[in-house]
Amino acid sequence: MLKVAIYGKGGIGKSTTCSNLAAALSKRYRVMQIGCDPKADSTKNLLGGKKICSVLEALRETGDEIELKDLVHEGYGGVLCVESGGPMPGVGCAGLGIISAFQKLEELEAFEIYRPDIVLYDVLGDVVCGGFAMPIRDGYAEHVLIVTSGEMMALFAADNINRAVKHFEKRGYARVRGLILNERRVKDERALVERFAEESGLNILQTIRRSDDVQRAEESGRTVIEAFPDCEVAADYFALAELVAGLMNGEEKV
Ligand code: ATP
Ligand code: MG
Repeated sequence: MLKVAIYGKGGIGKSTTCSNLAAALSKRYRVMQIGCDPKADSTKNLLGGKKICSVLEALRETGDEIELKDLVHEGYGGVLCVESGGPMPGVGCAGLGIISAFQKLEELEAFEIYRPDIVLYDVLGDVVCGGFAMPIRDGYAEHVLIVTSGEMMALFAADNINRAVKHFEKRGYARVRGLILNERRVKDERALVERFAEESGLNILQTIRRSDDVQRAEESGRTVIEAFPDCEVAADYFALAELVAGLMNGEEKV
């Protein structure tokens, strides 16, 4: 089972990248996508725009009686969609929420029962507290991909997550495999991200074009892989999927 965490600044395009990647990978693999965001909106474009009941919400409503089938929802291409969820706004700690959601999934043997080939974690990268670092700790994800653009704050968040992963790397956990450049079309974007990559010892694994097709697909609750599989940006996501599949066969890009 390949376990990949996708990190990046808030609003940078993590969920869009993650769900398009999941949809592209679903052509050949059994994929599970776990949204680790209190908004619980990571998987909605795999589910026709529908939001599912998150693990924490289910725990609050049903308590310990919850069953796996209440938490895992099949979306486009059979992708197994899960949302960790979070506390009510302004109450409690989102990081701790992720930890309890993960523990619940483990307790219910989600991975053993569904046996996905690939698990994708969609995680916010500018709140690197213990909870948000959860997917890269305790053996959850082995590979980390960081989504960034050429914007300064996106690169700042990318740097923070790279440092956090390096910190845990010493204890034998995840490794950053590289950057995904999700274009914002800022001035000199490619050069800025290339410079950051060089300074951080990382590669740009894949560039995802900025495209209106992404929003057009999103309007109908779909990924571009589902809505416009032949468009240019879909080709970028398919190329990213090839690369991620390569990780499974031990192909190193960094
Ligand atoms: P959050 O941190 O709030 O979870 P996020 O990083 O998951 O945000 P998304 O929700 O995936 O970000 O994307 C934010 C917006 O950017 C979306 O409306 C999406 O349509 C748009 N977007 C993402 N990638 C692209 C792209 N390559 N081309 C055009 N629009 C994009
Ligand atoms: Mg998101």
